[in-house]
Amino acid sequence: MHRLILKPGREKSLKRRHPWIFSGGVARVEGNPRVGDTVTVCSADGAFVAMAAYSPESQIRARVWHWTARDIDTAFFTQRIAAAAAARNVIDSAGLRLVHGESDGLPGVIADRFGDTVVVQLLSAGAERWRGAIADALAALPGVVRVIERSDADVRALEGLPPQSGLLRGSAATGPLSVREHGLEYAVDAEQGHKTGFYLDQRDNRLLLRGLANGRAVLDCFCYSGGFALNALAGGAAAVTAIDSSGPALAAAQANAARNKLVHHESKMEWLEADVFQTLRRFRDCGRKFDIIVLDPPKLAPTAAHAEKAARAYKDINLLGFKLLNSGGLLMTYSCSGGVSPDLFQKIVAGAALDAGVDARIERWLHAADDHPVALNFPEGEYLKGLLLRVSV
Ligand code: SAH
Repeated sequence: MHRLILKPGREKSLKRRHPWIFSGGVARVEGNPRVGDTVTVCSADGAFVAMAAYSPESQIRARVWHWTARDIDTAFFTQRIAAAAAARNVIDSAGLRLVHGESDGLPGVIADRFGDTVVVQLLSAGAERWRGAIADALAALPGVVRVIERSDADVRALEGLPPQSGLLRGSAATGPLSVREHGLEYAVDAEQGHKTGFYLDQRDNRLLLRGLANGRAVLDCFCYSGGFALNALAGGAAAVTAIDSSGPALAAAQANAARNKLVHHESKMEWLEADVFQTLRRFRDCGRKFDIIVLDPPKLAPTAAHAEKAARAYKDINLLGFKLLNSGGLLMTYSCSGGVSPDLFQKIVAGAALDAGVDARIERWLHAADDHPVALNFPEGEYLKGLLLRVSV
């Protein structure tokens, strides 16, 4: 049996069920665990704390699988994945996140379902070690005919793992994948798209925008495949501008608009392949104004160590966003950075409003879609946090 012995007192956060063991908290490792092997985590006095996956290359030296002394085996993954899937309601061709990493007790495992296809990311040494069991368990879920892997995220390198992607189970799809959300259909590029191909966490917020957009001039910053922009069009926006620096993302967004016959609105639709930071400045300099602005940037602070730099970037775009709004306008602003807490995010946005010289009121906190669970006592989670603010000048 492999054992990981903690330094004195370092079991405290684990006792609160924070699932990570940082390298600085480890006194020694007994036995000879290889990458991803299961270790029994013990406090300095030898008492049992948890079962965890060992990751010798990572600053996160181990991630907890279970809080009791039990075998971590194929049956464990079958159970956890079945439980995660059972907790979510599968609605016909709607996209659905089936497995949410730490929140479903499976650190490093993200699995999204698009119709009969599951797209999985195996992002930690432990997830990699159990790839066969995880793939089998996902393939065994009712209605699933194939499992595609997209383990090509940067975080794999922190675990000493090479990127990997391709078909894991089942046969290749005959046609392109798609997902239906609130009556709109989007192509999902599971092979080349970002992450698993579609940002399922923004589902509820896209619908919220649809309800607010009628007659408004809307700016969708970081639009990816067009989720917010399309909902603004569907909601009767007077004009929509969408910006993304990725050519393929923007092309996908335009194709999605056409696919949903929102193209007859094309005259009021403007797609910009550009950097948001620069474009907002340009808009400010030429006095352009909007009624609603969505800011949904990529993860700017993967860990707390990046928080300061990320805070400057968040402040920059939010300040510019405030300046570009008409009086009475709405800012829908998000962060998915594990390194930025909701509290810090609110402070950054408040600072941006002050510096922009506007009064802003929080109309509501915005969260990820309803079926996205959040692990308690795990502030580092990359959960979506957002604010809907109304501005008066
Ligand atoms: N709002 C989208 C998801 C946004 S993901 C949705 O609902 O689906 C973040 C997007 O930001 C990606 O598409 C990425 O290409 C884009 N991006 C990253 N940095 C950027 C920058 N500096 N300027 C413009 N777009 C950027």
